[in-house]
This record gives sequence, C-alpha cells and structure tokens, in this order.
Amino acid sequence: MTSLPLVFDAPKRGLPPQHLADLDPAARREAVVALGEKGFRAEQLARHYFAGHGSEQMTDLSPVLRERLAPLLPELWTRVRDVDCDAGATIKSLWRGHDSTLVESVTMRYKERTTVCISSQAGCGMACPFCATGQGGLTRNLSTAEIVDQVVRANADDLARGFRGVSNVVFMGMGEPLANYNRVVAALRRLVEPAPAGLGMSQRNIVLSTVGLVPAIRKLTAEGLQVTLALSLHAPDDELRNTLVPVNTRWPVKEVLEAAFGYVRTTGRRLSIEYALIKGVNDQPWRADLLAKRLKGKLVHVNLIPLNPTPGSDWDASPKPVEEEFVRRLREGGVNATVRDTRGREIAGACGQLAALE
Ligand code: SAH
Repeated sequence: MTSLPLVFDAPKRGLPPQHLADLDPAARREAVVALGEKGFRAEQLARHYFAGHGSEQMTDLSPVLRERLAPLLPELWTRVRDVDCDAGATIKSLWRGHDSTLVESVTMRYKERTTVCISSQAGCGMACPFCATGQGGLTRNLSTAEIVDQVVRANADDLARGFRGVSNVVFMGMGEPLANYNRVVAALRRLVEPAPAGLGMSQRNIVLSTVGLVPAIRKLTAEGLQVTLALSLHAPDDELRNTLVPVNTRWPVKEVLEAAFGYVRTTGRRLSIEYALIKGVNDQPWRADLLAKRLKGKLVHVNLIPLNPTPGSDWDASPKPVEEEFVRRLREGGVNATVRDTRGREIAGACGQLAALE
C-alpha cells in the first residue's frame, strides 16, 4: 500500500485571531461581556457582520462601544486582487490572511443565483495529481471565521454591485473540507443558522465536495445537516483512482460509495459525483459503463468536468465526442449526468491556479 504522509500533514502555520464568526451565539455573548459590555450587544454586532458591514457602518453602536468590541471583528482577509471574466459574471478573488497565507474564492453570477466557491484550507494535503492546489501540499487549516468570511465578503461585494447577494455556496476551492472537519462543520452551521446567529442560507444551496474521507463522511451523516455532498470520484476502479485520488488507497471506491450512499439515505439529499474527464486517462467507454453499474438505481447525479489543465502537466481535457459518448453511456446505464460549464477558464479558474501564480 502506498503511504500517505500528506493526508494528515501537520499544518505549518497557526490560526488567525479569534473572530465573532468562530463563536456560537452563547460564546459571543460571553466574549462581549468579557470586553466589559452587555451581552445583547453580541447580537447587534453579529447582525452587522453577517449583513456584510464592516465596523465603520455600525451606526447603532456608539464609537466607544465599537472600539471596545473591535477585537471581535479582526480583519481576516485582505483583498490582494480581483480578476474577472465572462463579462464580469465570474470574479476570482485572491485573499491574504494574517500570516500572509493566500487563498482564493470565486463568485459566479447566473440569472437567478449567485454562487461562491470557497476554500476550506490554505493548500491541500490530498495530492491529487491533476489539481493545482494538490501540488503544493497543505499550508494550514482555515478557521471557521476565515471560511465564513469568504461568503460574507462575496455577499457584500455582490450586493454592492447591485445584485441580490450570494444564494449558493460550494466548498470546491482550495483544500479538503473534511480534513478540517470541526471548523468546516461549524462554518456550515454559521451559514445556515438564521440571523443574528448566522447567514440564514438554505442547506440545499450548499455543496460540500470531498475526496472521500470515509470516517468523516460517516460523522457528517450524524450531524443532522442536510447540505449536498459531492464526491470527487474521477475513476470507477481502484487501480486508476489510487493514482488520481491517492486517498483511495486508504478508502477504496466501494467503501467510499457506501459511505456516501449512507449520507444520502439519512439526509434524503441527492449525491453529486464529480468526474473530471482526462483525455486517454479515465474517459474510456468501459469506464463509463462501470461507473453506471456502480451508481445505477441510486439517488445520484454525475457532474462531468472537462479537465482544466494545470501548468506543467501533460494531461488535457477529453475531446468533445469522447465526452459525449461518456455521457451517453452513463444515461443509457440509467444514471443522470451532465457536463459542467467551465466558467473562469481564462482567469486560471481551476482549483489553486490563481494562488499558484503569486
Ligand atoms: N478537496 C475537495 C474540494 C476541492 S476541489 C475535493 O477534492 O472534492 C473541487 C473539485 O474540482 C474536485 O472534484 C476536484 O477533483 C476538481 N478539480 C481539481 N482540479 C481540477 C482540474 N484541474 N480540472 C478539473 N477539475 C478539477
């Protein structure tokens, strides 16, 4: 068996200062009281924060109060730059953390929704060879607030541009969310709890994407959450998946699918299977048939993603006719499948590519 030292890499750096969004409502009150103020101020502060307002706009808090409570709203991310494409409908933001860590988020505006793709770790320890983030290893976990703040900032940006704000969140930026389990689950709670506890988003509008850390999928199943789970499968057979998603050597295809279907049974949510089509690597008709066989009859949807080539790699996306044949065979095998649109290609939209340019 291949050893997997990178999977549980010790983070090389520490977390940022504690922020209001790291705390649940009871802990926020305690923190406000510890700063010498009345507990109810925690709710006011939280309302401002989740509405996307910085400290400068807290008009119902006096300047003295604001200053006293400022330690609860440290600036977590400094904007390094925004790059846009698709006529401004896709915006990729690069952020710098308190320790100079760089992470990315991408906002995609569609007719009836705005989706933000966020990072859960700086870097990633999963080492998938086709993914730009996977090449650099893990720098550190993001804190709960650093995860939530990407959504709060994207929401504020979207509203400032005159749109309706973020409606959907996908954990498909940098990092493996289930390798930062506690903070990611706390962030999910912040996203879905109604104001003033959180952002009040709909669970069905949140997608958590994972390489398939089986014990963590089982734990998530017991959390009482109903977010959509996406599994990065990329191959239906262990031999190939061991190389494309190295964690497969620990939890093979059959086991990871069983865990994911357990999540589906408990939550009633449809499973998303992610499958990046890589020319000549995982796009053979027999693999489409095997994939269909493994998924048939389940509450599942396959998202085929044309590979977004990363610098320094020989791999490329499958040709259109091959992609079409793959879809056709999945459908013929009784499995829902669509090809994902490829927003943000010309701005290095693939996972980790913008941070890699720095
Ligand atoms: N670590 C998580 C989430 C981050 S990546 C996971 O692996 O699921 C989100 C999705 O983008 C994953 O399915 C990942 O495999 C895919 N991905 C990464 N790099 C890609 C690339 N160059 N082209 C296409 N898809 C890619």
